[in-house]
Amino acid sequence: MGNMISFNHRVTKDDDSLTMSNGLTDILLDYLLLSGSQLAQTESEKRMTVFLGEKVQSCCGIGTVGFAITDMPWQPETFAADRSFLLHMTAHASALTLQPEIHALLGYVPRKEHINYALDGFAALIARMTAADIQPEKPAEWLTRATPDHPIYHGYPKCRRHGILLSSLGCKICIDQSGKYPVMPEDIEHMKHLWYGDAAPQGADTNESTQ
Ligand SMILES: [Zn+2]
Repeated sequence: MGNMISFNHRVTKDDDSLTMSNGLTDILLDYLLLSGSQLAQTESEKRMTVFLGEKVQSCCGIGTVGFAITDMPWQPETFAADRSFLLHMTAHASALTLQPEIHALLGYVPRKEHINYALDGFAALIARMTAADIQPEKPAEWLTRATPDHPIYHGYPKCRRHGILLSSLGCKICIDQSGKYPVMPEDIEHMKHLWYGDAAPQGADTNESTQ
């Protein structure tokens, strides 16, 4: 059991698909999210980051968050900039893995050889992406699933505790640390209406992280 990030789902034996344990998948995503959320400036960069923020095993199921690089919301107009951004995201994530304040924020210290394997594998897959590989329907497909209350339509809010861009699921790190979904720490109180509208149930804002 584990997760795979492939280039385009056409996986062959011993190709460059990135296979990871469930635990390493979470570690990779945590660092990519922290990094991408610090770096993203443009709409498409933020979308790429939020796409990764939806890969939450504690919501979607353990071992079910694999995807293909070509599934990401690439668009021809911003392709070169977005690929550069994702490579920069990966390099900056590598730097973050050495920072004690990030270890404290996440509550764990990644094993260097493991996280480097994952970051290197992810970067290699991104580097392989060309404009010719863009599947034009992918951004629309992804956006079709985004309901009007999706954070991408509300100014790309970030978790105040972890600084990561919120996805439709909220903050991956808050969810993982609290073991609860949906999670509504007071830090993202301002997001509550996005999930519950005016009918917020009693106690919906009490899922405080126990960290
Ligand atoms: Zn958070």
